[in-house]
Amino acid sequence: MANELRFQVVGEAFKKKPVTVTAPSEKPSVYFGKKVFNRQKMYKYLPKSVYDQMIDVIENGTRLDRTVADAVAAGMMQWAQENGVTHYTHWFQPLTEGTAEKHDSFIEHDGKGGMIEEFSGKLLVQQEPDASSFPSGGIRSTFEARGYSAWDPTSPVFIMDDTLIIPTVFISYSGEALDYKAPLLRALKAVNTAATEVCHYFDPEVRKVVSNLGWEQEYFLVDEGLYAARPDLLLTGRTLMGHDSAKNQQMDDHYFGAIPERVQAFMKDLEIHALELGIPVKTRHNEVAPNQFELAPIFEETNLAVDHNMLLMSVMKKVARKHGFRVLLHEKPFAGINGSGKHNNWSLSTDNGILLHAPGKTPEQNLRFATFIVETLMGVYRHNGLLKASIMSATNAHRLGANEAPPAIISSFLGKQLSELLDHIEKADRENLLTMDGKQGMKMDIPEIPELLIDNTDRNRTSPFAFTGNRFEFRAVGSEANCASAMIALNSAVAEALVDFKKRVDARIPQFAKTLQGTEHNPVFHAIIDVLREDIKTCKPIRFDGNGYSDEWKAEAAKRGLDTETSCPKIFERYLDKESIQMFESLGVMTQKELEARNEVKWETYTKKIQIEARVLGDLSMNHIIPVATSYQGQLLRNVERMSAVFPAEKAQELNARNLKIIEEIAQRTATIEAQVEELVSARKVANKIEDEHEKAIAYHDTIAPMFDTIRYQIDKLELIVDDALWPLPKYRELLFIR
Ligand code: ADP
Ligand code: MG
Repeated sequence: MANELRFQVVGEAFKKKPVTVTAPSEKPSVYFGKKVFNRQKMYKYLPKSVYDQMIDVIENGTRLDRTVADAVAAGMMQWAQENGVTHYTHWFQPLTEGTAEKHDSFIEHDGKGGMIEEFSGKLLVQQEPDASSFPSGGIRSTFEARGYSAWDPTSPVFIMDDTLIIPTVFISYSGEALDYKAPLLRALKAVNTAATEVCHYFDPEVRKVVSNLGWEQEYFLVDEGLYAARPDLLLTGRTLMGHDSAKNQQMDDHYFGAIPERVQAFMKDLEIHALELGIPVKTRHNEVAPNQFELAPIFEETNLAVDHNMLLMSVMKKVARKHGFRVLLHEKPFAGINGSGKHNNWSLSTDNGILLHAPGKTPEQNLRFATFIVETLMGVYRHNGLLKASIMSATNAHRLGANEAPPAIISSFLGKQLSELLDHIEKADRENLLTMDGKQGMKMDIPEIPELLIDNTDRNRTSPFAFTGNRFEFRAVGSEANCASAMIALNSAVAEALVDFKKRVDARIPQFAKTLQGTEHNPVFHAIIDVLREDIKTCKPIRFDGNGYSDEWKAEAAKRGLDTETSCPKIFERYLDKESIQMFESLGVMTQKELEARNEVKWETYTKKIQIEARVLGDLSMNHIIPVATSYQGQLLRNVERMSAVFPAEKAQELNARNLKIIEEIAQRTATIEAQVEELVSARKVANKIEDEHEKAIAYHDTIAPMFDTIRYQIDKLELIVDDALWPLPKYRELLFIR
């Protein structure tokens, strides 16, 4: 009997028409931020003195006092109610994926037997979510029974449906971070402090350095009927089986093609929602793989950009359903097809508008540029293993090291000009590098810097951390990830490098002051050059402009002392290296206890993901694939029997040869699948007995995950020989080409 479900969902998917999206009557610039309690709204809804204090809190991190919080809450509630809001929630980013929230209504007893709407500063500032079900790696049991969420006033509250959403950090009562936002804010503070001090060598006016993030979100869209007919997509976010489509991405026609109509409608709808929520979305386009797309906003301050990405991912999921799609954020939903990443474009800039990773015009500006480039590389070099750990996950592991994504070794591509610049600073005589010219003051002998921005177009697609003119692009981040993880590691690593840099520069200034006495030379700049030359040599192993996929690079990287580990649970160990703990503790980003607890969560999450995949694969093998293959085998057997009844023996044997071969192949493949599924179950039983989360994750990685491929191999072969009409799961061609 034909598989009705598959044919039904395929037929329905084909018939779907684009949903009509009516854009707001105003221009995007008018409805941008409509649902956000941003500065304009604060100005309108808060008394002037409260507004001023809020701006001070946001810009300078001053403490928010209780009376101000009450006044802010009152203004917020008024605005919210005017927009039909009845509930509020503290929104936070637990160590599991995504975001969490618990909605409460504004309704309170009025003490006279009736009800009133109330929202106080206390409710705005702090809340106790029922935290027992969020993973904390034992922090809460070790320290305190519960955690609480606390308002992050630097990320504005916003409205979703009937709810006022308040971005918060989630911490235990003893102050340990149970989320991504708390350590991110601490890392951003550390890099701000360290970078501001270094900026003072060049410009004493700088008051603050901001970390910028512009993410590029890649994703797949799949028709929701087809999605529902694939238990593997539904439960694990990726296909655990499925033979290559006869056509996939080899024509490159999707990348250059027009955006399909149904998708276009989805994107338009999504962008309207995003803009209303203050997410400055700017570009949309098709990606390399069929049904793969990308959306990117204009970069923002990192904490806000992270919140906006988390928000966007959840809005995407909702809007997609309205259009009959499901969004796949998994890094590798389809084998043999490009995976999805989330390039993190990152830079530092000052409060007076200077992009520290962009070249300038004067010698001082270019020395500052060189300083921030070199110290970024120092941070990335020293902590390359940790940076890899920060982007690693059970799902992103499928993407890294495969031939279309960043390799599983962190290195940095600088491009020809920047490489030449660093080589020049390293090799030229210090005296010739910085010379004095009566009229213009200091001159720096470095070639052609102003052209850098324009000329750095020779991009290296295989580099996990590439310089792209005025920023670095951390490309190894996964599509599903919370960018905060990468941003905590990167900003901390650079903060540490800058602190260390300043220490060494300061130590050398007196010496240069002595030797340069009586000249016009600035001893500070000479000390900077001196340290930079040393650092350019030290961090050279991280610089790599070649092909990151090649085997030669793997060998070469190992020789250079870069981290080449590929096992996900072992890569997580980098968080507990002496250097990592030292870095995080000295900057006040995370304590050893927090790091240990968080790693427990990482290992446990890894194990659970593989465990679920193993179960789904086992179930699908036993109750979808084997029964269907066996049933087809039965059809063939009946055919063979009848042929034998009709034709003389010799003739029948000849005519039955093909079917007999297939019957045998099915028998062998189903038997193999069955045996391997049994083996998988026993391996799981063994691994599940391991108490230690670290060891258990390693067992899942080493003994269980590798069996997926061997089982899948057999299933994909069966897909090729079993009658298409019987096959139960929507095929790759259907998932990838129907839209
Ligand atoms: P691509 O060519 O890689 O697609 P885009 O120009 O589309 O690059 O930019 C990708 C992202 O990088 C955008 O979010 C953009 O705003 C951001 N971006 C641009 N300049 C910077 C910068 N100096 N620092 C951080 N992000 C930046
Ligand atoms: Mg890019």
